[in-house]
Amino acid sequence: MTSLTCPTCHLENTNNDWVVFPYPKESFKTSQRILFCNRCHLGIADPMPTDEELDELYQKSSFWGNVVPRITEKNNPVEFALGRARWRLIEASMAGCQKDSITVLDIGAGRGCLGLAAHRISKKTIKYSAVEPDPLQHIAMKEAWQSEGALEALQVYLELEEVSDRYDVVALSHVLEHVKSPVDFLQKACTFLQKDGVLFIDIPNQDHLFKKSLFPHLLFFSKESLVFLLDKINLNVLTIDGWGRNREKSPMNGHIQTYLHFLHWIICIVKRFVPGKLQMWGFNWLLGLDHRDPNGTWIRTVCKQK
Ligand SMILES: [Zn+2]
Repeated sequence: MTSLTCPTCHLENTNNDWVVFPYPKESFKTSQRILFCNRCHLGIADPMPTDEELDELYQKSSFWGNVVPRITEKNNPVEFALGRARWRLIEASMAGCQKDSITVLDIGAGRGCLGLAAHRISKKTIKYSAVEPDPLQHIAMKEAWQSEGALEALQVYLELEEVSDRYDVVALSHVLEHVKSPVDFLQKACTFLQKDGVLFIDIPNQDHLFKKSLFPHLLFFSKESLVFLLDKINLNVLTIDGWGRNREKSPMNGHIQTYLHFLHWIICIVKRFVPGKLQMWGFNWLLGLDHRDPNGTWIRTVCKQK
């Protein structure tokens, strides 16, 4: 068996003495285990799926499915509530920014709710560019921004190679755990930052500890391993914290059964009868979307180039 090399710090597992965690069998046909680097403590899926397998997953609209409902608070209460929580953190980190208008590049935008949430809650004008490989999401995003009367503030791209501008904010929400080379990826993301721009990252907080399905995550970060990576990219951390309900108690914890699981199940059943704003409030409380906790479900950071 060839020894694994850490994609962040390049340490090799030559003595096969790294901590091993089983990769859930049901969630990915390729990866059998997660190895934790002895130096930077990054968790690495082993073996990694091939690029062909990953391309097939992300580029054929199979990740989001073929039916794309309209983007509304009622259809996407969690995404909107997450978008609000993320935007508040980003904007708080830009307190000194004097600009009337903020440009945002959201890489791996999904449904683009970060941009819509920012557009709704910010006092500044938001110009939002979404990089999202699923063209069906582009159609849904255009409809949503059109209905806000702000279609001219939206740009959509299928891939990062199409982007040439620089932005005040570059956002990576639940993206970094999907890439094979985090150093190269972050260095590239930083080339899209304005001189004083901020990079926002949101990733699962060691989700191998609480999820039954990890599909299709390749890297497993703790606050410690993320700080190591950010330092290597020469980024200045403005804020880094655990966010979301404590992993041990979250409804997203697949290993426990609590009343929160039951509530989650009830809300998912009755959600079609509940107004979007009320659903957002309910999911916000249930998942602790805007709640700081060192052992929370996610890690969020805002950083700047040194
Ligand atoms: Zn390492």
